[in-house]
Amino acid sequence: MKKILVLSTGGTIEMLPGNGGITIGSVSGMDVSGIQALPGADVSIQKYLSLPSPHITPSIMADIANELRKLELSREYDGVVVTHGTDTLEETAFMADLHLEGFLPVVFTAAMRSSSELGVDGPRNIRSAVRVACTETQNLGVTVVLNDEIHAAGRVTKTCTSNVSSFDSPGYGPLGFVDDDRVIYHRRPIWRVNLPDQGSLVLEERVGLVRTAAGFGHDLIDFLVEADYKGIVVEAFGRGNVHPATADAMERAVKSGVVVILTSRCHEGRVLDVYAYPGGGVDLKRRGVLFAGDMAGNKIRLFLMACLGRKLQRDQIQQMLSAL
Ligand code: ASP
Repeated sequence: MKKILVLSTGGTIEMLPGNGGITIGSVSGMDVSGIQALPGADVSIQKYLSLPSPHITPSIMADIANELRKLELSREYDGVVVTHGTDTLEETAFMADLHLEGFLPVVFTAAMRSSSELGVDGPRNIRSAVRVACTETQNLGVTVVLNDEIHAAGRVTKTCTSNVSSFDSPGYGPLGFVDDDRVIYHRRPIWRVNLPDQGSLVLEERVGLVRTAAGFGHDLIDFLVEADYKGIVVEAFGRGNVHPATADAMERAVKSGVVVILTSRCHEGRVLDVYAYPGGGVDLKRRGVLFAGDMAGNKIRLFLMACLGRKLQRDQIQQMLSAL
């Protein structure tokens, strides 16, 4: 019998009709009938929070990650399932993946439809997540299970505003599948972005994310520097290139001691110093910008918050990013 804890944090999975839409109320609408008689699982459910996930800030994500780390160290459970809103699930799951050692299966799940809608997906998703928590022995790190697919926290993203198949890992695909008779694992990630354990996760929250658009970006970077931000992630064009005015703003940021990390607004592929024109990757590297491989901007921002919260220096951060 596997001892599994379901920790609820909010989201559509527990929302009910109210206020002219669906909303979080005092009563949870989470339908857990699917896990009550699940063979081989002794499941307990605990409310940790009840928030729509756009209300979940990095500091709340760090609290959740710290709570999961405590559960990991306690060895009280064989697995933990976290229910969460879909909007920021990929960020909380990644934050937990940064912090956890990985020997405790931790599985995030959610619902695209509330229990008041036709074709509700929540009860099945929780059931599938519990089944993954019971069977995962591969040290996959934190996983995300929706629509019977298992994804790595570092890669998964919400790709569609409404469809139950919204969660995907562009360029990588799922780690495995949950079928009626068994859970099938196809592959394991050979590395994760993971920070060696040093007690509680503490964040530097003044880390911004700037997504470039044609002719846009430099003003926002200057604004963040003036607002005393300590780190800025720039989602550049293509292979990692920006307008020369944006490159100048990035250099001003670097010179004032801000850690500036480059990633791409493309869904797949690494940033690399290929282009040598002003604002190209070669130029940005010369100006002291760090490169984040193919990591998504919203996730590398959380990584930078954790690095700066730990007082890691630019060189140490660069060293960690060199694996990407
Ligand atoms: N807006 C909701 C949330 O993230 C969406 C969901 O849970 O599916 O809380």
